[in-house]
Amino acid sequence: MFIKVLLLIVLTFSTTIFAAEKIRSYQVSENPLKMDKIARQFEVVQKLTHGFEVYVLEEDVEAFLKIAPHAVLLEKNVHENELQNLEKSATQYRDFAKVESDLKTIAATYPKLTSLDTYGVSKEGRTLYSLKVSTGGENKPKLMVTAATHGDELITTEVLFSLTNELLAGYGKDSRLTKILDSRDIYIIPVVSPDSFEARERYVQRQDPNRSYPWPENPTNKTVDVIEAMMNYTNKMKFTGSLDLHAYGRLVMYPWGYTKKAPVNTADVGGFKDIVQSMAKDNQYTAGQISTTIYVAEGSSADYFYWKTGTKAIAVEIGREKIPSYNKIPSIVNESREMMWTFLEYFN
Ligand SMILES: [Zn+2]
Repeated sequence: MFIKVLLLIVLTFSTTIFAAEKIRSYQVSENPLKMDKIARQFEVVQKLTHGFEVYVLEEDVEAFLKIAPHAVLLEKNVHENELQNLEKSATQYRDFAKVESDLKTIAATYPKLTSLDTYGVSKEGRTLYSLKVSTGGENKPKLMVTAATHGDELITTEVLFSLTNELLAGYGKDSRLTKILDSRDIYIIPVVSPDSFEARERYVQRQDPNRSYPWPENPTNKTVDVIEAMMNYTNKMKFTGSLDLHAYGRLVMYPWGYTKKAPVNTADVGGFKDIVQSMAKDNQYTAGQISTTIYVAEGSSADYFYWKTGTKAIAVEIGREKIPSYNKIPSIVNESREMMWTFLEYFN
């Protein structure tokens, strides 16, 4: 019995060690055919002056280098610098318990404007929250704003909390914010992936959540728990518009990601262009279609929401870091504010 318990402890401990996610970053410049192959298996994060930056989980490095033998290693562990910022700012960045208590505080502070809904539970048992902000009435556009699909993009959650608080505090005082809230129902999801958010990890069970949605050419793509919950939620809610916050890159983008072709519906394309260009007017973010602005990305949220429910689905890459030093947050909120209000105002 004692040996069994000991063995269990050792096994649990070694799984924990193994679970620490390590991601390498590479610079890759290959011909388009090879790049397409790489993009289907790995996360192309950004366009560089020469080639692209690609994230590769440590255990996949061998397979990756077989496809891209000339790849140049940029960082051995992309989390290292970011986590240093987190350590320096001690407990200031929210963990999931704080996210939970802040959501409850907001709901208690604004009982006439908000209600705290849930749409499932994560694999490790964390509640999936959606804060509904509504002044009542019917037939309003339903908009959703999400953050922390990637659990290491902590800045997205901080920005979303700041702007949500501003929006609520401004109701009845600021005419612009009052108007925004009077004619739209807004659903705020500050953490899409709570388990990886708590672990400060990017992926979920070694899978990139934002490449785990089904897409038109792969309608049965195997997904992870939190994305499946999000799929069920959005298919039920049928949002008019959605805004998925990521970090980083200073980009505002629309579908498709999975193909370089534009959506067939030209009215939709016109609408999308209109939205992203107005959103980027103030902060000068780069605006365009996902696949041509970064690279082809199969299985992203924006593609899924647009494909399944016709949602005007926008993906944003905020700022220049995933976990900036804590004192930079106000300036990143500043550069995101007008972009967010403009997104909400588009739908009426
Ligand atoms: Zn992301």
